[in-house]
Amino acid sequence: MNEIDEIKNKVDIIDLIGSFVPLKKAGRNYKGLCPFHSEKTPSFMVSQEKQIWHCFGCGKGGDIFGFLIEKEGISFSEALVQLAERAGVELKSRPQDWGERNKLFAINELAAKFFERSLSDSKEGRQAMNYLVNRGINKETVATFRLGYAPSGWEYLSKLLLRRGYQVTDAERAGLAIKRDRGYSDKFRHRLMFPIASVSGRVVGFTGRVLDPQDQPKYLNSPETPIFNKGKVLYGLSVTKEDIQSANSAVLVEGQMDVLASYQAGIRNVVASSGTALTIDQLRSIRRYTETLILALDADSAGSEATKRAIELASAEDLDIKVALLGDFKDPDECIKAGVDQWRAVVQSAVPIVDFYISYSISKFGSDSVAAKKKVAAEVLPVIAALDSPVEKDQYAKKLAEAIAVDVQSLYEAIAKTRRGRVAPQPLAAKEQIQIESRDPHWLEKRLLGIILYKPAQWAHFRDKLDAVNWASPPLAQIYGYFKDCYTGREFSLDELLGKLEYPDKVEVLELMMVIEENYADMPDVDIGQELNFYINLLKQRNTRVEMMQLSREIADAEKSGDQVKLQALLEKFKESK
Ligand SMILES: [Zn+2]
Repeated sequence: MNEIDEIKNKVDIIDLIGSFVPLKKAGRNYKGLCPFHSEKTPSFMVSQEKQIWHCFGCGKGGDIFGFLIEKEGISFSEALVQLAERAGVELKSRPQDWGERNKLFAINELAAKFFERSLSDSKEGRQAMNYLVNRGINKETVATFRLGYAPSGWEYLSKLLLRRGYQVTDAERAGLAIKRDRGYSDKFRHRLMFPIASVSGRVVGFTGRVLDPQDQPKYLNSPETPIFNKGKVLYGLSVTKEDIQSANSAVLVEGQMDVLASYQAGIRNVVASSGTALTIDQLRSIRRYTETLILALDADSAGSEATKRAIELASAEDLDIKVALLGDFKDPDECIKAGVDQWRAVVQSAVPIVDFYISYSISKFGSDSVAAKKKVAAEVLPVIAALDSPVEKDQYAKKLAEAIAVDVQSLYEAIAKTRRGRVAPQPLAAKEQIQIESRDPHWLEKRLLGIILYKPAQWAHFRDKLDAVNWASPPLAQIYGYFKDCYTGREFSLDELLGKLEYPDKVEVLELMMVIEENYADMPDVDIGQELNFYINLLKQRNTRVEMMQLSREIADAEKSGDQVKLQALLEKFKESK
């Protein structure tokens, strides 16, 4: 048995996926909400019997390795190493690209430990510790978030890494050393260090905050590296994900200090986008733990603009959004200093987005002049028009009318004229269908193959047509060939066919069978035959269309180059194939 099969025998797919996604038994399979796209009704299915998962919404699927690759954003080699550890299987050799990424993880981890030690043990670290004490951060919080201190020398960390057997270029690739005129120096010097971790808790980079006000910039981030993509990680999530899950909401703040202060104050379901504009990837990682997002960004105008952008982005991801209004406090940290209860109240009384838009627009434009009222209405009305519930629409129209002192009837008329949907969730179904098709150009060929493997008896009826199919990819042609070898005319054993296939093709066939069984389980054989015929014709039409387009392009080229002989031949061919 090879290593992959050995690991698969020891790691049950229901256990593995069940530790990320709640699964419920549904017929012969298990069902849950897809962790890879937004949905309210489960279309994500796991088959214990096949050890395969597939999402009927977004079309993703695979085995245990594929799941981990997709979920953790890691390479196949890393998934292999992780699952081998879980299964207790000894790998004969470390996979090739395991080296580079793992080296970067190891270097960042070493750096995190070094910074932690420098904060607690060094004389210089005391200034950083004093800063934290002044900001009200206690020792437990420092330890939980692994805060540290980067000393002010030029090459403390670089030298440590050299002593541990790394090259200075390794440190540079890990984002911790920078090239100077003469040699290298540490990137972070005399700064308070916040390690940034992946969801699973591995350190991937750092933010360093100045301790002396004259130093610039105030916040310095690790550069993008093969393991660090600023737009993909959220500060604090590795620590707070369970709290987010149990509170069933995530409070999004701007800065690292806001996360620390809120966590320490007992409101632990908190994360920060840390200095970047919120991205779709970040929202998706929040959505894996909760559907409710409470925005608690800074109260200045930049913060309000960021809130507006975040709302637009989050609505498209189907998150339920509320806005925490900070009132006179400039950021969550300041609010928490004024009192933990104050902060708790701000979070608990977070308002729906329309309330935010009303108060934000009025603070921006005012509400005294006719011109100001018009501007406020222009900004808020599309948001009201996008609400699903007519009752809510009515309530907010009245609220807005009152807030800017206009006649509510005129607002109703304006709403009726406003096109729906600036912040409304986008319809996913149609978009996803196209995505599946564009992601998998061979879906038609696979559908044909799946039906034959599922109902081999149908093959005889369409044999000539199927033999004439251009299978488009070598593995598919090979599988069709194997099918003909295995099928005796009466009996067919899928296991025998699977036995002939190599690793990724085997998974693909199993996933295909899961999709086919789900779609055709209750269909009479006659109808399945019709389906097969339908897809054969569809494929033929598609291929003809592709050929004609290709031919037209060649004809146009021949015309341009004036090659009369070639042109005649092509036109002849065109007529024939019509
Ligand atoms: Zn999905």
